[in-house]
Amino acid sequence: MSDYYVTIIPDDPYCRVDTQAAKKVQSYLEECIVAMSVEIKTHEAPAFVDCGGYLQEIACPFCGSDLWDWWKEAMDESAGETGLFAELDEKQLPCCDKWASLNELKYDYPCGFACTEFVLLNPRNQLEQHHKDMVEQMLGMWVKVIYSRI
Ligand SMILES: [Zn+2]
Repeated sequence: MSDYYVTIIPDDPYCRVDTQAAKKVQSYLEECIVAMSVEIKTHEAPAFVDCGGYLQEIACPFCGSDLWDWWKEAMDESAGETGLFAELDEKQLPCCDKWASLNELKYDYPCGFACTEFVLLNPRNQLEQHHKDMVEQMLGMWVKVIYSRI
C-alpha cells in the first residue's frame, strides 16, 4: 500500500514558523487528526512540496497553457545545490509572455513551496475546514493544504 500525506504549509513560501508556534500546531494536529505521525519539517530556503502521484497538470495561471516541459527546466534552473529554492522570482512564461513565479503556476493537484511543513502521515480522518481555520489562527497566517500520495 502506498503512503498518503497531508501537508500544511504557510501560504508565503519564505515564511518560517518559530519553533514554539510549530510545536503548538503539532500538538493540536495530533489531538484532532488520527495519523501515524505529525512531523514538523523546516528548511533553510523554500522546498518544493509536491503532491506526488496526484500531479496531473501544471498550467499557466493566465492563459491555461500546459507548462509541464518548461516547468521541469525552470525548476532545475531555480533549484540551488541543496535542492531548495532561495529565489522564487517571477519568470517570463513561454505561452503568453506574462510573468509568474514557480509558486504561482496552476498545479493540479495543488503543490507549493515552503520553509516550514506540517506533515501528517496516513491520516485516518479528514482535515476539515475548521482544523485549517484553527491552524491559521494559531500561526497568524494563511496556510495551504497539499495532498500527496507516494
Ligand atoms: Zn500563458
